Amino acid sequence: MLRGIAFVILFAALATPSFAQDKLKVVATFSILADFVRNVGGDRVDIEALVGTNSDAHVYQPSPSDAKKLADAKVVFVNGLGFEGWINRLIKASGSKAPMIVATKDIKPRKSEDTHGHGDADPHAWQSAANAKIYVANIRDALAAADPAGKGTYEANAAAYLAKLDALDAEVKAAVEKIPADRRKIITTHDAFGYFGAAYGVAFIAPQGVSTESEVSAKDVAKIITQIKKQKIPAVFLENITDDRLLKRIGAESGARIGGTLYSDALTDEKGAAPTYIDMMWHNVKQLAEALMS
Ligand SMILES: [Zn+2]
Repeated sequence: MLRGIAFVILFAALATPSFAQDKLKVVATFSILADFVRNVGGDRVDIEALVGTNSDAHVYQPSPSDAKKLADAKVVFVNGLGFEGWINRLIKASGSKAPMIVATKDIKPRKSEDTHGHGDADPHAWQSAANAKIYVANIRDALAAADPAGKGTYEANAAAYLAKLDALDAEVKAAVEKIPADRRKIITTHDAFGYFGAAYGVAFIAPQGVSTESEVSAKDVAKIITQIKKQKIPAVFLENITDDRLLKRIGAESGARIGGTLYSDALTDEKGAAPTYIDMMWHNVKQLAEALMS
């Protein structure tokens, strides 16, 4: 009897097509990119993110376990546009031979307008749903190339997800259009919403540039406070990956109110408000509407 059960269990394990060790092992550098890969890869991929939820990829310190994940991966997805300054050295150290796919390929980069005038490429391209569709197309093609047997699955998953992104794009546009045009301006900690602003018509002003690495001077803070008062900017927003203190101070000194927390560069865990990209975009636009319409 016991031998019979063992045999059945063994047979079931062999017959399950998506048995864990058959899955395509892939790595994405951060949680938002991993969510895109999960939506396209479905059951065929085993996806690991290097920078976890609520964590900052700009200033990430890789660990030895990251090198191990890269060494085991068959495909590595990165954002590019200077977002992961640490990735090339890490891939080299890991000995990984996996192709490195730049998910922002074919996206027209926005130049940052940071207060220091560096004019670096802005890496936060995922903040418009139209750009997210380009990420998804690049991911679909890379997974199909790495795992040709799954091509049909990846194409079907991508098509279904692209349709959801189209709907999201239209819904975000409609939600922003309800906010009076002269109130569509806010302050965030770092300049992560340039693509969102360009796509949906909201002005974002940030004391910190496109990377959280840059230092904010007393002069920058004074300039922002003057700007808030002059342009009557209604609200300042905190971010899940940055230090709250600076923005709270700007809020207190300028009279602008704290509108809530926006998710810029990382998702939350399952219990948070933004466990997926679509949840994140929805959460952000709802926060904006609530703070700017009242
Ligand atoms: Zn950022």
